[in-house]
Amino acid sequence: MAENPKVGVSQCLLGDAVRYDGRAKPNSLVIEKLGEIFELIAVCPEVEAGLGVPRPPVQLSGSISSPRLTGRDDSAIDITETMHEYCSQKILALKDLDGFIFKSRSPSCGLHSTPVFINGQCVSDNSRGVFAASMCEAYPDLPMIEDTDLDDPVLYQQFVSAITVL
Ligand code: SF4
Repeated sequence: MAENPKVGVSQCLLGDAVRYDGRAKPNSLVIEKLGEIFELIAVCPEVEAGLGVPRPPVQLSGSISSPRLTGRDDSAIDITETMHEYCSQKILALKDLDGFIFKSRSPSCGLHSTPVFINGQCVSDNSRGVFAASMCEAYPDLPMIEDTDLDDPVLYQQFVSAITVL
């Protein structure tokens, strides 16, 4: 029997308690529906980069084109280099994926919905998290989607079809 396509997924969407506050963000479409047709590969960039659970929340800041990952509540925290180093290693290990499902609005995982702050003001709400940006750069043709877009039947079907016809 042929193997199911391998699809990476932001780990909190699978119900694992890996978020900064020790909680999960389970998505039933991902777990129950897509889990039936894909082999889901869990990835939590912040935990895998060694940041632990719980951890101080971070946000994109300082620049829309080249944001840093800094503490939401403590601007002295800056994990930009840590995350870039993690991404440069991890991206290679994900070369055999057939798609990726990202958690929206995350400074690490957001695909097109992450806010950027400059001097405490939100200057963008459609930016890309650091890990998602690395994936897009390394694998520009890989089918990718955010969890919230899965609720749109057209986008859902486009994503599934793009993977199953590979
Ligand atoms: S959004 Fe990404 S970095 Fe944040 S908890 Fe989920 S998998 Fe981890």
